[in-house]
Amino acid sequence: MLTSGIKRELTWVIGALWLAFGFAWLTGWWYSTSAGFVVLYIGRHLWSVRRFEKWIQGTSIDAHPPLTGLWSEVSYQVSKKQRALEKHADLNFYKSEQFKAASMLLPSAVVSIDQNHYIEWLNEPATRMLGLLRQDVGRRIEAIIRQPDFLEYLKSGDYRRAITLTLDQSRIFEVKIINYFENHRLLIATDITELYQLAQIRRDFVANASHELRTPLTVLHGYLELLTDMPHEPQWDTPLEHMSNQTVRMRAIIEDLLTLSSIEAGSINAKQEEVDVPKILEQLKAEVEQLASAGHRLKFEITPGLMIKGMPEPLKSVFMNLLSNAIRYSPDGGEVSVRWYADEEGAHFSVSDQGLGISPEHIPRLTERFYRVDKDRSRVTGGTGLGLAIVKHVLDKHDSHLEVSSMPGVGSTFGCSFALSRVVHTQKDA
Ligand code: ADP
Repeated sequence: MLTSGIKRELTWVIGALWLAFGFAWLTGWWYSTSAGFVVLYIGRHLWSVRRFEKWIQGTSIDAHPPLTGLWSEVSYQVSKKQRALEKHADLNFYKSEQFKAASMLLPSAVVSIDQNHYIEWLNEPATRMLGLLRQDVGRRIEAIIRQPDFLEYLKSGDYRRAITLTLDQSRIFEVKIINYFENHRLLIATDITELYQLAQIRRDFVANASHELRTPLTVLHGYLELLTDMPHEPQWDTPLEHMSNQTVRMRAIIEDLLTLSSIEAGSINAKQEEVDVPKILEQLKAEVEQLASAGHRLKFEITPGLMIKGMPEPLKSVFMNLLSNAIRYSPDGGEVSVRWYADEEGAHFSVSDQGLGISPEHIPRLTERFYRVDKDRSRVTGGTGLGLAIVKHVLDKHDSHLEVSSMPGVGSTFGCSFALSRVVHTQKDA
């Protein structure tokens, strides 16, 4: 198959040969015409190469150079290809401009950084909200945002969760890093000051109200005990007992609300120390064995010496809440087994019971405040409805979460895991 370039060249050669043949026939100069033809043919090619070179080295290769034959076709194809490339480049440029324009309109600050944390680009809100400058492109983000929490988050490489940062003394930001496009990262900061302040008002209100209710309730409870001990008509026995039980319940709710407030306020967040979980579980076992006179079979499988970094008292309340729920929500004689062990992923705690179980639709809502699967049952068992909310918040502070698997009528397993980085082994064989 002849390409159009070769066809053009052949047409030119045949035309030129006819002319040369006519000239030689007329003049009879066959040899010199042939030699002249070869010289002119080579000369034409050399001249075309020179023009082609000049044309391709020029700034614009849009217009065709005045070439003939094969070279005309070659220059046409080159310029066609060039136009297609330019169109593609225009499209890419347009897309990137469109993306930049959209990122400018985002209400959040967006900063792109490379694998070494050098800033690649940033949007306008990043200059307003984070105090970055356009000139900061090319600088390391650590040199500009220096908060220790941020530096630790950036270094950790674990960006599944977001962090909260206070910048400019007063504004509060939720900062999240997302990996994208091989080794690049997007840092997205959203101003949550108003939301945070609203949540703070709610937290303060709950904490203050609970605190204010504590003393009157203690007084009430004291007088009720006094009345119970004083000589009284027998028909007052039941009302006094009910009132006394209700004040105990109200006190338990208030204590749980105060615990939740202090976890949320972060006042118990301060110190992370080595927590001797086996020791805590042994203590709980002794406490529960005394209480569980109802006849639950308790089974403890504890890996000795397996400690974690965390907050001892809050963690104790997690284990206690899960254990007491397993006992309260399973029938007498049921088996409750507690496991504390480690594997290559971290340390794991679980409590399994052979109790009532929970239908799947309730499971996602269990950690909501005052959420109860069965309100009456919860009241009978003396629950406050806040136990699992406390568990959730404490686990959040330990980068962990509650895992629940349950089947109605068969039983439930509540558990949580702690990352390997938190695990501390004190016994070699642990
Ligand atoms: P409560 O103080 O009412 O027990 P929690 O927050 O501890 O509140 O638990 C929330 C609800 O989850 C409980 O009311 C109960 O319905 C359900 N629940 C918790 N643990 C178990 C369990 N081991 N088996 C069955 N239901 C459970």
